[in-house]
Amino acid sequence: MNPVAEDSGVADRLLQSLRESEALLEGHFLLSSGRHAGRYVQCAKLLQYPELAAQACQDLAEQAREVCQNEQPFDVVVGPAMGAVTMGFELARAMGVRGIFSERSPEGGFTLRRGFEINPGERVLVAEDVVTTGKSVKEVLLMLQDMGAGETAVASLVNRSGSDNPFGDNHRYFRLADLEVPSWEAEDCPLCVDDSVGPAIKPGSRPGLS
Ligand code: ZN
Repeated sequence: MNPVAEDSGVADRLLQSLRESEALLEGHFLLSSGRHAGRYVQCAKLLQYPELAAQACQDLAEQAREVCQNEQPFDVVVGPAMGAVTMGFELARAMGVRGIFSERSPEGGFTLRRGFEINPGERVLVAEDVVTTGKSVKEVLLMLQDMGAGETAVASLVNRSGSDNPFGDNHRYFRLADLEVPSWEAEDCPLCVDDSVGPAIKPGSRPGLS
């Protein structure tokens, strides 16, 4: 249950914000996949509070500056819609650069619309609220490569990929906290056979939260 992160003070602050905003719930949950889990994370619940979003993104921007040893390590922040629209914008503000978002392309992968552009050689920070498989971010990284972007890196509030860097050595990966969210098929769920825990509920339904 203990999250591991490079800076435990920053990780603790994020976890407190997640709990305060009910973005991180502990209990016994029925996920939309049908699997059961003891935790549920929905960062949008945190990001609805501008002060919490600003604090988290400032912490992330500081980490990026420190690791890169550069006050201005990136030229633009881009996040895959919808999850990263709010976070990407707040992170862009904290980094002092412009913030744009990418959208699903009918041909697959991501694309930029609305007149958004990446100029050749621009250093791009890809924002994502929670990295689970990292699939969307990887698709954005491919899009950026096709567009001739310069150095690209990834920043997320939460890393629940189970990997230190699911994006490979070519991309730096910044995040505030690593979080495990184990889940099980219903028949293998240890919480279902734990008498001290109530039945699995859909996240967000109030009764039964224990
Ligand atoms: Zn269960």
